[in-house]
Amino acid sequence: MKGLADNPSYIIELLEGGVTLENVIDGHICEQALVEKSAFVVGDLGALMRKHVCWQSVVPRLQPYYPVKCNRSPAVIEVLASLGLGFVCANKTEVSLVLEQGVPPESIILSGVCKQLALIKYAAKNNVQHLVCENEAELSKISRLHPSAKLLLQLTTEAHAAETSMAFGFSLKSCRHLLEAAKDLGVQVVGVTFHIPSSCQDLQQAYTHALSDARCVFDMGADLGFNMNILDIGGGFTGLEFQLQQAAPRCLLPPMSGVQVLAQPGRFYVASAFSLAVSVIGKKVETRHWDRLTQGVNHEDTEFLYYMNEGVYGPFSHKLLGKSIAVPSVHKHALCAEEGVFPSSLWGPTLDQLDQVVERCLLPELSVGDWLCFSNMGVCGLEEFSCLSNTPQLPVYYTVSTCDWYEMQEAGVTLDSAMKNFSLVEYSA
Ligand SMILES: *Cc1c(COP(=O)(O)O)cnc(C)c1O
Repeated sequence: MKGLADNPSYIIELLEGGVTLENVIDGHICEQALVEKSAFVVGDLGALMRKHVCWQSVVPRLQPYYPVKCNRSPAVIEVLASLGLGFVCANKTEVSLVLEQGVPPESIILSGVCKQLALIKYAAKNNVQHLVCENEAELSKISRLHPSAKLLLQLTTEAHAAETSMAFGFSLKSCRHLLEAAKDLGVQVVGVTFHIPSSCQDLQQAYTHALSDARCVFDMGADLGFNMNILDIGGGFTGLEFQLQQAAPRCLLPPMSGVQVLAQPGRFYVASAFSLAVSVIGKKVETRHWDRLTQGVNHEDTEFLYYMNEGVYGPFSHKLLGKSIAVPSVHKHALCAEEGVFPSSLWGPTLDQLDQVVERCLLPELSVGDWLCFSNMGVCGLEEFSCLSNTPQLPVYYTVSTCDWYEMQEAGVTLDSAMKNFSLVEYSA
């Protein structure tokens, strides 16, 4: 196992009792204010553990496999690996990152419905056996390059197809054909996987449909002599315990008994663990006049436009994918009672029409140099920050409170490779 210690790529700040995440952000803002005022990210590794505790207390029999695409920062992978999670990888970089953490290849699922030949060979060479598959072309590639693979068939769900606006996964209609093809090629099929995105309106109905479809595939598989025993119900869990309680346990009910049920919670684990601090670098006031002829009133509407040092071509790239970004908190802004809030919009630095991060929202009046703090920023792939942004990679500061750290050690998290990178931090609040 290659440790990060030889190549320390991250440092963890261990926070003494009483030091909060806000103190850490304050500290780095002061630091940044003295230098180039670069935006930065703060990651709370203790939050990952707390999510895991929540997961285990609500759905203890549902094995979590973390989709690396959600956030592949090495600290996240290391913590989740030592908490015993499995991993879902979509490419060679992700597989090797996870293997380097000492995760056994049995705990890795290679996802993606259209894999490069080199990736399939790489999986075979490294003993990664569980591969997702949804069509015959893929099946014949796998039978040629990785004959001992164990396939999870990707079943389509309406909700997933609606979100990606693409035919995704195989339908129940084509199922027998696909199973027969696998049989002819001598490839093992061991289970079914589906994904219901959290954007889905009627979760209960979506899970009911997907489960009954999965049941059919299991029966057909058994007919053909396959020993199918893995059901993967995908991700889409928001961070809410309530939603987890609603969606997941249904899948552990008797029709699927004897089957190992697993899920792919991505956002659930990482979203709340990361916050992003950006500074305001520009400000404009726009006044629009509306002539409401019918009412004969002249209405004036003022909006503040603020420009930040990062935008959609950086850490807010998920905005381009249609996700909305929650209104940030204003750093250290002591709102006095009389102070008003004003219609405001937040923009990235490019002056590009697409670079609007937050549409019209209500904020107190800001000044250039103020800092804004966006929470729940864990799911944009910190690695991707660097290639999309024309600025160098944002600094990421990892923290864990001593209290969480003791609990993590009890839970078996050792962070061996990171131990040498610990620094004890005391901030004066
Ligand atoms: C992105 C993705 C996930 C993770 O989704 P979350 O909403 O982050 O839990 C799981 N499975 C598949 C197939 C995905 O594409």
